[in-house]
Amino acid sequence: MPNTLTPDFATAGAGIELVGLTKRYPGQRDPAVENVNLQVAAGELVVFVGPSGCGKTTTMKMINRLIEPTSGSIRIGGRDVLAMQPDQLRRHIGYAIQQVGLFPHLTISENIGIVPRLLKWSKARVAQRVEELLQLVGLDPAVHARRYPRQLSGGQQQRVGVARALAADPPVMLMDEPFGATDPITRGRLQDEFLRLQRELRKTIIFVTHDFEEAIKLGDRIAVLRDRSHIAQLDTPARILADPADDYVASFVGADATLKRLALHSVAEATGDTAAAPGTPAVAPTASLREALDTMVAHGVEQVSVGGVVVTFAQLCAAARAAAGAVPAQAAPAHETGLVRNGG
Ligand code: ADP
Ligand code: MG
Repeated sequence: MPNTLTPDFATAGAGIELVGLTKRYPGQRDPAVENVNLQVAAGELVVFVGPSGCGKTTTMKMINRLIEPTSGSIRIGGRDVLAMQPDQLRRHIGYAIQQVGLFPHLTISENIGIVPRLLKWSKARVAQRVEELLQLVGLDPAVHARRYPRQLSGGQQQRVGVARALAADPPVMLMDEPFGATDPITRGRLQDEFLRLQRELRKTIIFVTHDFEEAIKLGDRIAVLRDRSHIAQLDTPARILADPADDYVASFVGADATLKRLALHSVAEATGDTAAAPGTPAVAPTASLREALDTMVAHGVEQVSVGGVVVTFAQLCAAARAAAGAVPAQAAPAHETGLVRNGG
């Protein structure tokens, strides 16, 4: 992939370090963000999850200096961000937001090519990159490149927003509720595509959401934030689900932690041993245990086919127990919990 980064940023996936980061807006009694300390490893995806107004956007905008911190420091790839020229910095940080912010009078390809053009890439190279990115986010260049934003659906515009953030191959991406404005089905699809991309690209990403399920699905680690971006707990999804630090975190986890934990594990961990009868509902081997369970519920059956092999509800429960030691060993059969209608 083309590498256009300044030498300091050129390392694949630069880590992010926030130290004592604080923002006090003029005329406000309390800081919007207070003393945030966080290290994000190179190539890691950390999700900020917290209620509206807790300071998520302010924190993100300080990292790319759309907002100047009141105090504290920010390092990316070991470099002091506050000593850099803000415009220069922002060309090396991908930024995707809920409002997408595409320029209405520019075509899709012009929108995606903005940062590469600012970086003075040749026309041919920009064109090639735009085409590559459209394909990467699942839009056909022949169909979409010359359209205008208003000619695309909300989900397609979000994809363009992600493509634009990736355009100059930045080591760091800040994503502020990037899928927030889409319907649940589109959002699920965008999340799946985004995860597939991230497995390949290994960017260092901070991703903001107020949706805890989205945090579980996407995060290598989750920072559960309370007021002023105070970090209530910072840990892997599995550990937050299994062991919330306090009542506040527990309120995000909810009463269905066990069920949520199923989203963390692949149905491939539950392989059975008998061939599936024709007509057995199928799920992809890459699907989660949660999706397999959803499929059983939706079809009112207690087995699904994974690559032609039957996985039963009991095998699914066993896999869930094995995968996360804390799942209650006495998980009841589906027909007793009412999760699965009997029959067919
Ligand atoms: P979030 O993204 O988590 O919803 P924000 O970072 O947008 O939270 O806001 C954090 C707090 O700072 C809120 O109380 C909000 O009202 C306040 N705030 C945000 N922007 C400004 C601003 N430009 N001036 C004054 N207060 C602001
Ligand atoms: Mg916000």
